[in-house]
Amino acid sequence: MNRKESIQLSSSVQKLKGIGPAKAKGLASLGLFTLQDIVQYYPKRYEDRSSYQTIAELVNDEIALVCGRILRVDEIRPRGRMCITKAYMSDGTGEVVLTWFNQRYLKGKLPIGQRIIASGKVKRTGRRVELHRVSFEAIEEGAPVKGEIMPIYGGSESITQKVLRDIVRQALAYIDDTDVIPPAIRMAEGFIPQREAIKQIHFPSNINVLQKARNRLAFEELYLIQCGLLLLKQQTKSQKHGIKHGPNGTLVKALLDALPFTLTNDQIASFKDIQYDMEDRIPMQRLLQGDVGSGKTIIAALALAKTIENGYQGVMMAPTEILAQQHYQTMTELFAPHGVRVAMLSGKVAVKKRREILEELANGNIDLLVGTHALIQPTVAFDALGLVITDEQHRFGVHQRAMLQEKSDWMPDVLVMTATPIPRTMALTIYGDLDVSQIKELPPGRKPIRTFVRGEESRAKIYDFIIKQIQEGRQAYIVCPLIEESEKIDVQSATALYEELVSGIFSNIPCGLLHGRMKSDEKDAVMQEFVSGKLSVLIATTVIEVGINVPNATIMVVEGAERFGLSQLHQLRGRIGRGSHQSYCVLVSKSRSDDALERLRAMERTTDGFELAEIDLELRGSGQLFGTRQHGLPDLKIANIFRDVALLIKAREYAQIAVKEPQNHQPVYHALQERYGSAFERITNN
Ligand code: ADP
Ligand code: MG
Repeated sequence: MNRKESIQLSSSVQKLKGIGPAKAKGLASLGLFTLQDIVQYYPKRYEDRSSYQTIAELVNDEIALVCGRILRVDEIRPRGRMCITKAYMSDGTGEVVLTWFNQRYLKGKLPIGQRIIASGKVKRTGRRVELHRVSFEAIEEGAPVKGEIMPIYGGSESITQKVLRDIVRQALAYIDDTDVIPPAIRMAEGFIPQREAIKQIHFPSNINVLQKARNRLAFEELYLIQCGLLLLKQQTKSQKHGIKHGPNGTLVKALLDALPFTLTNDQIASFKDIQYDMEDRIPMQRLLQGDVGSGKTIIAALALAKTIENGYQGVMMAPTEILAQQHYQTMTELFAPHGVRVAMLSGKVAVKKRREILEELANGNIDLLVGTHALIQPTVAFDALGLVITDEQHRFGVHQRAMLQEKSDWMPDVLVMTATPIPRTMALTIYGDLDVSQIKELPPGRKPIRTFVRGEESRAKIYDFIIKQIQEGRQAYIVCPLIEESEKIDVQSATALYEELVSGIFSNIPCGLLHGRMKSDEKDAVMQEFVSGKLSVLIATTVIEVGINVPNATIMVVEGAERFGLSQLHQLRGRIGRGSHQSYCVLVSKSRSDDALERLRAMERTTDGFELAEIDLELRGSGQLFGTRQHGLPDLKIANIFRDVALLIKAREYAQIAVKEPQNHQPVYHALQERYGSAFERITNN
């Protein structure tokens, strides 16, 4: 009893029986440090041991699961170091021989009389029955076996299933009865109690209960995160020390007047949203979502103009040096004629210059700073920061927001931009703390990109076509197949293709190679040569995915297109069709599979990123689209935003009601802190 009292879910795994420093290290490598982590280390899958076969009924060539006792073990050494282990096992209905090759250590693990569960492939010859490719597990005496559904965890060499099951069992004893889901929801949805759900997810009594447990825990996870995001939003909204920008003034008007085009309706509506937020005392926390080329940059510029004409400074952060450079150029062109002082901060800026910029920034001589994330830390001192524009990968986490706030007496307005087309349901999870504006329509007069799906046999024709376009002055991208899990192979295949082309069909054409293993200087140099038109063809891995703008590039060839998600192809395709010339996208695929081709054909049919994302979701139904990680949210432990859409919507609705009631806040803070640690740091610090 005493022991129990001194141990809590937050205690180290070393408090558990059988866990010393060595095992603790093994657990740490699985991300398991505390009892809480163990309790939340849900099984990867289950083995249904309610379905043993008897040895008498084993069928040749099938995979079977049997349970019995070891009768004897023989080791045979036919020659050299070769060793065959044969264990004879009986379950009362018959005898089976378990056979292994060259696994000397096994004999010691199979004492006579030991009860084991074994699975393997059945080999029947006459009356003799053998199991090959056997995996087995010893069963302790008295352990329930028949009818059990066994959890299978993601283990490691040093941490076996047995250890995991054992410590999970121990840790489960420390779960208390507090339930973060309010009773009313539990009743309405018929959820089983939390404690029961956690026990059942690890050691289910049967498949039905397992389903219920999973359902409840997935709901709980989504509900908690929704509550967290909504509370975060509520909290931001309750802060009255945002900036109250004045109505649009001369700079915004001047920018608008100088535009060579009129804004689309969606652009106008988005800027209205932003304007409204900025003129409000409550700090803006808005996401501007719009497909590649939809014209987000000018909206960003208008917002920056608004803060600048109100006497504040603006900052715009980009994920890469090249993009920062492009933004800097665009902003300089837009703003310099109006006397706005624009500066750029990046890794390229020399120390002395950098110091100078930082100084000018601090004393208010710079109005607009453009740069890479690496260099514009929230710790860089501003004189009067009014607006921060960033991209989704680097949306301000809760943490950064807090830092920003510490820097000044007020909270600057924040605009996050994204070109990732996200289905609405998913946007709820990922951007629950932000208000969202969308630009859905493209500026008028764009020539839609023409897209073709082609087989390998068309390659010669495709290259001829590229050469023709280059002769007309255009440029082309060739993207090499994406080989999952191996950047190294990606690089090799891009390099090989590059060499093949420059020594062959493109020998008279200036080609460049771009891949992720190059130093960022080298990458920038190649990219710059392509931007300036020195290079006609850029052979690259997916590193070009990020929003670079080369209006003269009109061809995009994607090799091994079937390996890409539609959303990713869409992002890639967004690199072309940015100028006045007709653009072409050719998706090359070896695949003969109808499904793969059907999927790619969607690219021929539509250029709507949202539609493509939905199709991706339907067809692939899994994390291929993108992880939640880049959005700064904690990883989901059990829910799946693709499969659990219905649960998510329900969780969102309940969360909206729940956060209105202060008595729910503390349990939510507590649970978030306990389970997701620093991801929700700021609200949980309250
Ligand atoms: P995004 O940042 O959303 O990918 P950009 O802001 O770079 O898109 O816009 C792409 C191109 O479209 C730019 O050259 C921009 O000048 C132009 N553009 C933006 N808005 C309009 C509009 N309303 N009408 C015509 N062209 C526009
Ligand atoms: Mg404001």
